[in-house]
Amino acid sequence: MYPDTQLFIDGTWRAARSGRTLPVINPATEEVIGQVAHASKNDLDEALDAAAKGFAAWKKVSAFDRSKLMRKAADILRSRADETARLMTLEQGKPLPEAKMEVMAAADIIDWFAEEARRAYGRVVPARGEGIYQLVVKEPVGPVAAFTPWNFPINQVVRKLSAAVATGCSIIVKAPEETPASPAMLVKAFVDAGLPAGVVGLVYGVPSEISEYLIPHPVIRKVTFTGSTPIGKHLAALAGAHMKRVTMELGGHAPAIVFDDADLDLAVKTLAGAKFRNAGQVCVSPTRFMVQEKLYEPFVEKFVALAKGLKVGDGVAEGTQMGPLAHDRRIPWVEGLVADARQKGAEVHTGGERIGNKGYFYQPTVMTGVGKDARMMNEEPFGPVAMIAPFKEFDEVVEEANRLPFGLAAYAFTRSAKTANAVAAKVETGMMTINHLGLALPEVPFGGVKDSGYGSEGGSEAIEAYLNTKFVSQAGL
Ligand code: NAD
Repeated sequence: MYPDTQLFIDGTWRAARSGRTLPVINPATEEVIGQVAHASKNDLDEALDAAAKGFAAWKKVSAFDRSKLMRKAADILRSRADETARLMTLEQGKPLPEAKMEVMAAADIIDWFAEEARRAYGRVVPARGEGIYQLVVKEPVGPVAAFTPWNFPINQVVRKLSAAVATGCSIIVKAPEETPASPAMLVKAFVDAGLPAGVVGLVYGVPSEISEYLIPHPVIRKVTFTGSTPIGKHLAALAGAHMKRVTMELGGHAPAIVFDDADLDLAVKTLAGAKFRNAGQVCVSPTRFMVQEKLYEPFVEKFVALAKGLKVGDGVAEGTQMGPLAHDRRIPWVEGLVADARQKGAEVHTGGERIGNKGYFYQPTVMTGVGKDARMMNEEPFGPVAMIAPFKEFDEVVEEANRLPFGLAAYAFTRSAKTANAVAAKVETGMMTINHLGLALPEVPFGGVKDSGYGSEGGSEAIEAYLNTKFVSQAGL
């Protein structure tokens, strides 16, 4: 059973005032499995009014009580993990165990922000005169507009929602139309934990219409977006024109560097797992594989064998390791990139084709000889495609890693501490993980540099973006 998804405005689940809906499609079967309410301006106006009232009430609630409520929401979400994961797999395609992991990780993220809520400390600055107190006070920034994508339907919302709720902000989430039911379950967990009306609003519709209306609106004080770099730049410009605080978590094109002295089997297993997770539709997915000469051939051989052995299928089927791409736009995109690379001389070792013609399945694909002029070496594939190339020298690989305007995640494998330190220092990236997968835990920063955006959605840095700094200087009379 897959439910229709409604809007959540001013504490009420309801249809759009216009009655309009959009179909939700199961990417494994291409069947319409439900409908999602489609908000128009009058719905957004109600959501904005509610967010203004919600903020006025919520900012008065103590950090202690906000934290307690959030912990309750996390426990409610955990208790509904199986049901929520199933909805996510039906609407998004990822295998059930991956969906369940996402739900459980979301509960941990709520807990982390619940802890941070109580530590949004200010400070006291030593004064120049006797009896003067110079206080740095942290205050919630105000109502937030959040825009989140379909690749991690819950994870992308929970980081924004939790930070807002923890700091005393209200938030309107424009969640993904392709995958609406699982983020609605997340919001429901907060509501059932006792979150007052107006603190969170949930809307769906035409993304550009909603962002063009919410971002300039005077009620909204902060904008946060996860998605592609071109849309991020557009929204950041709009936010800039209206002087709104911004966090942007945008595209990546992660270099994965394997040095001659690496543990080969560990590198192959770790990187292939990261590459094909969620069918490659992950902003931190390793994309440009660069392997030093000595290990190049065995790396390609083992990586190809692993890709060939992956079980691709419907995410709800037992044993599925990779599901379909999440929506119909992904197939022509990946096909276009692969055709372009082939035409420019690349070799396809495995994959390179769509699977069947029902469901958006694409083969795990490994390519070599992909020229730097190929589109996929410059644009984010966001699909199950790995490009592997050999390199000789440290400086050469660093130059290639830094060639693109992206700077989100990077991976390296080496047994040398000296090489590990050097590569961590030289690669222009927001996140670097060496000899293991260590990204995206709640307690560590998450975010990029350059065209991959700014701001952090993890660690204690994530709270700061939802707070204003007020300075108070007070002299005793
Ligand atoms: P897209 O670029 O149109 O959309 C990306 C996301 O932004 C979607 O969630 C969409 O609803 C939203 N969006 C689009 N236009 C918007 C607007 N004007 N205002 C507010 N939100 C808007 O295309 P897509 O086909 O959904 O994805 C294409 C590319 O986006 C991918 O190839 C990938 O590069 C990137 N992407 C990145 C992430 C990430 O985690 N950073 C997630 C999803 C997609």
